[in-house]
Order: sequence, then structure tokens, then C-alpha cells
Amino acid sequence: MFKGILIEKDEAGYRAAVKDIDDSQLPEGDVTVRVDYSSLNYKDGLAITGKGPVVRKFPMVPGIDIAGTVEASDNPAYKAGDRVLLNGWGVGETHWGGLARKARLKGDWLVPLPSAFTARQAVAIGTAGYTAMLCVLALERQGVKPGDGEIVVTGAAGGVGSVAIAVLKRLGYTVVAVSGRPAEADYLKQLGAAEVIDRSIFSAPGKPLGKERWAGAVDVVGSHTLANICATTQYRGVVTACGLAGGMDFPSSVAPFILRGVTLVGIDSVMCPRAERLVAWERLGRDLDVDKLAMITHEVSLAEAIPMAAQLIEGKVRGRVVVDVNR
Ligand code: NDP
Repeated sequence: MFKGILIEKDEAGYRAAVKDIDDSQLPEGDVTVRVDYSSLNYKDGLAITGKGPVVRKFPMVPGIDIAGTVEASDNPAYKAGDRVLLNGWGVGETHWGGLARKARLKGDWLVPLPSAFTARQAVAIGTAGYTAMLCVLALERQGVKPGDGEIVVTGAAGGVGSVAIAVLKRLGYTVVAVSGRPAEADYLKQLGAAEVIDRSIFSAPGKPLGKERWAGAVDVVGSHTLANICATTQYRGVVTACGLAGGMDFPSSVAPFILRGVTLVGIDSVMCPRAERLVAWERLGRDLDVDKLAMITHEVSLAEAIPMAAQLIEGKVRGRVVVDVNR
């Protein structure tokens, strides 16, 4: 038996609770992992609260991030004792995830724990931080350089936003943070934001084009915020879109794209090919200051993760939440 959060949905309703789970209930997979840490991402918040249709099979163990140690493996790439990391691949949605003391997984989904980080640091970065790095890599690939102008980061006090600010600042970019929490302005400036703007400026419907400002953007909000950012991006600037914290719609026009040559890059971390993941993790090892990571992170137990998930969806959680599944 092992402890884990189990999400159930039946006549009694949708609910999540810490349960004792029998090993025989573990799903199919060629690698069994003793989980050291998992984390709470926006998607885990939706899964645990049932506020979004993230979980596709019931019962489900949530947790899209896993750092742990291989207990048993039928996969030639892994042996007992190997330290491994997993982000995404539908884990915590269609396959049991990391918010439990044990997981059975496909070896193809795992990467070795990056040598720059402890297991706890790797999940502190987690899917949110690795997605922030995918956005930074996309900005670089499209040719955005630190001298080109300001980079705007939305949902700044959340997980993706916090890591994006720390990494962009370290790379020499001038970062403007957009946040709905004025109380977090000092935190955002300590992470590296040159300026903090209230998110209400971006969340109302805007014009197809506005004054050109951003050389690049990392947007986790979507909806009018993404549309307004595209409308105020410089000629040939680049906007990376990875989130929907403000809505799934995109009420924009083609004006920024056909009149200013703005590039909109979609970012997906879940099915991102392994080679690109390895690059992102290698770059995080170089470009994320671990002291800043410590500032971003706080830790909860498995049981505490359940109420924390609701707070995360309400936008009340700052930075990243590590879950120590063994306490
Ligand atoms: P967090 O909850 O940690 O951060 C989201 C932040 O967005 C909040 O902290 C808040 O920041 C802001 N926000 C929340 N609600 C609203 C709203 N209604 N309008 C405007 N801003 C809002 O989540 P994550 O950082 O983990 O994820 C952020 C988004 O990115 C999510 O939509 C998630 O699904 C997506 N994501 C996508 C991935 C991909 O592969 N494409 C991978 C990882 C995440 P503040 O208080 O500073 O305004």
C-alpha cells in the first residue's frame, strides 16, 4: 500500500482525498518510481478542484510533475536507483501521476534528473518553469535579443511568470511584469522585473493596434490580455502564448500580424519532443539562479496540497508549490 491523492467521480460527486492505494491498482508501465516530490501547477489545480475537464479517467492520481527514484524497471534505459524526472505526457490527466508515493510510468516519458538540480529543485521548476524556458527558447529562436526592447510577462506572480522573469533577467533582457497583485510588486522586482503593471490595463477589450512597445512577450493569460499584447508589440516582435488563466478565447484581429509582422508562437509542454525538453532543462541549469528559485518556492504536504489547489485556481498562490509526498 502507498499513500496518494485519489480523484474520484461518481454518483457521490467529484472529490479528491488522500487515500491508501494498493500497489495492484497501479497502471501499466515499464518503470516503477518511488516519488520524492511532485508539485502543483495550474493544471493540477484544475484536476484536484474539478474546475476544468483535465482528468479524463477515474479514479485518477493527479500530479503532472514527478521527481523520484526508479524502484523497478523493464526498460533498458533505466535501472533501480536511477534518479528521474517527468513533466507532462498526459500524466495526472489520463495516466496516474505524481501526487502519490509511487508511480508506474512509461520509461519513454522520463528524463534523467538534471545534474544541476536536486529532486526538490527540479519539481520547484516543474512543468511551469520548464514551460517558461520553452517560451524563452522560442523568443531566442525567433531572434529576439536583450537589446531589442522590453519583454512583457503576464500572470507574473504565478509559476510560469515567476520563472520566466528570473530567467529573462539573468539573460540580460528588460522585463516588465503584468500582475493583478500589487502587493507582490517587491517580489516581482526582486526576481528581476524593471516595472510592474496592473493587469486590468490588459484585460478589457482593446483596439486592433496600439502604441508599439514590446520586443517580446510571455503570455499565460490568453483572451483580451493576449490580444492587447499582440496589438502593442513592436514591428517584427514575438509573442509566446502558453496559457489560459484569463480565458481560452483570443479576441484579436490580424492587424498585428499583417501590418507589423508580429509572430505569435504557441507553446506546448505536454507533448514537447524529448530532445527539446533536454535542451530546456540544460538551459534551466545554466540560466536560472537557484537563489531566485528558492525565493519562488514553498512546500506543502500531500494533504495540504488539496486546499492549496483551490487557492492556486483562485490566483492566490505566489510562485511555485512543491509537494513533499512523503509527509
Ligand atoms: P499559476 O496559477 O501559478 O499562475 C497563473 C497566474 O495568472 C496567476 O498567479 C495570476 O497572476 C494570473 N491570473 C490568474 N487568473 C487570472 C485572470 N482571470 N486574469 C488575468 N490573470 C490571471 O499557474 P501556472 O503559472 O502554473 O500556469 C499559468 C498558465 O499557463 C495556465 O493557464 C496553465 O494552464 C498554462 N500552462 C501551459 C502550459 C503549456 O504547456 N502550454 C504548461 C504550464 C502552464 P497575477 O496574480 O500575477 O496576475
